[in-house]
Amino acid sequence: MRLTPHSFGSRGDDTSTPTSGPAEGSALREPASVLLVDDRPEDLLALSNMLTHPEYRLVMARSGAEALRRVLDTDFAVILLDVMMPGMDGFEVATMIKSRDRSRDTPILFLTAAHQDVSSIYRAYSVGAVDYLTKPVDEAVARAKVGIFVELFRKDQRIQEQALALREADRRERELQLAEVRLLSEKRYRSLVEMIPAAVWTAYPDGSVNYCNHRWHEFTGLRLDGARGRGWLGAVHPDDTERVAAEWSSAISRNETYASELRLLRTDGTSRWHLCHIIPEMDHHHRGRVRGWLGMFADCEELKRAVEARDEFLSIASHELRTPLSTLLLNLDSLKRQLSPTSTDERARRKLESALRQTLRMEKLVNSLLDVARIAAGRLELELEESNLTEIVRQCVDRLSEQAMSAGSPMGMHASRDARDIVGRWDRMRIEQVVTNLLSNAIKYGDGKPIEVSMEVEGDQAVVRVRDYGIGIAPEHLDRIFDRFERAVSSRNYSGLGMGLYITRQIIEAHGGAIAVESEVGQGSVFSVHLPIGEVQAISA
Ligand code: ADP
Repeated sequence: MRLTPHSFGSRGDDTSTPTSGPAEGSALREPASVLLVDDRPEDLLALSNMLTHPEYRLVMARSGAEALRRVLDTDFAVILLDVMMPGMDGFEVATMIKSRDRSRDTPILFLTAAHQDVSSIYRAYSVGAVDYLTKPVDEAVARAKVGIFVELFRKDQRIQEQALALREADRRERELQLAEVRLLSEKRYRSLVEMIPAAVWTAYPDGSVNYCNHRWHEFTGLRLDGARGRGWLGAVHPDDTERVAAEWSSAISRNETYASELRLLRTDGTSRWHLCHIIPEMDHHHRGRVRGWLGMFADCEELKRAVEARDEFLSIASHELRTPLSTLLLNLDSLKRQLSPTSTDERARRKLESALRQTLRMEKLVNSLLDVARIAAGRLELELEESNLTEIVRQCVDRLSEQAMSAGSPMGMHASRDARDIVGRWDRMRIEQVVTNLLSNAIKYGDGKPIEVSMEVEGDQAVVRVRDYGIGIAPEHLDRIFDRFERAVSSRNYSGLGMGLYITRQIIEAHGGAIAVESEVGQGSVFSVHLPIGEVQAISA
């Protein structure tokens, strides 16, 4: 019940909470609650008359139990508590009030009769009273004491409100700082993307483009509106569009990086080759989920032209070299025939043999160059015919056994029972080239240790393994050695151009097969060739 006259104008039953406004204002708005506890109605009335004040809200309780109920739902500035009450007396009520966390610090003023002895005052203090008033209560004293506690209560409230406001200001400040950092990193990232010499876009997880950098606009003439969604594919050369669209869709569905070469159309209608790299941005909070895509298109037209020019030069040079080389070989051969067997000029014969060997070596190199040029131009053609793989391998081993022996590497061959005659449709000459390359490498890098060649059938595949116990290959080079002109040794120690394994792999893959290597530095290497046997085997079986 509210006894306070509403002398503060319209404030009335304002329900706004103290935390929602400035500390000073809200403290004034809410009257301070004061609890008066006495079992005698006339005493209660007298007290309430004395204490009526626009800033107080007086709450009255006629018993200890009622007082406790009031304390449950209100924070009082002060409690005036009669000691002598039927049922629960003032001491018990005070003890209970003090045992509750929320009301522990609420000051209690005891009301004692003048005739009560000093011990009850001591007892009042011991259960937590801060002061006492003797009945009959002196109005001036009562108002002064209650006034002090209300004032204290107000101050306490203001401190709490200020602390709250400070915490709120702190939180806002932190939020502002965070927003600033975010903005800064976003700006930085944008300027980086604008600076790099490549066309860049970003896309949503479903692959639809949501940002393009300046260079992209400049080159393709497509603004974000045009590139949005799958619109960017409109800037891809018509001959590449279908392939790129299909590959890009499959990359999205598998959350995989997409790398490819494609032609981008320029505003003037010409096109230039670009290396396209699109990577998924993974979501750190949800494993396996993509947050977006980053696409980058780097102009590689010049590089592509240079590579094409090199390949063309290689092709022309090796063709041009072949013609005089063939004539030279023929002439040296006929010279050798004319000299032997009647000639007694031993020095001339040795020189001629050396000239022949060197010319043959040169022919091999030129042939390899020609092969590389053919592969680059996509013109490696196979002449498939029914061939006996086991026989081809055995012949190669026989042909090279003398060379192997003089390098200190005896060659052994073993074919498992089912591999005694493996027949399939292969290009006999090319398979011979493969086996010769592998055996020559085993001799060259075999460190004068034995070489083992084995043949097996695994499922529908023929497997040829060439094992040496030589210098081996470091793990970081294993992938590289099958690429064009790649080597894992220095040319000071071992001559070579790094074409053999490249050609070997191309030939094997053209046959639908595969080549693999296992190696350990200083322990040796095993090269294994897998070739599908196919239908011919089934017919001859
Ligand atoms: P080349 O022998 O002319 O360098 P290849 O393409 O045949 O070219 O081989 C590429 C590289 O692979 C070689 O330079 C060598 O480093 C490494 N390599 C090939 N075969 C072996 C082998 N049997 N043992 C160790 N290294 C090898």
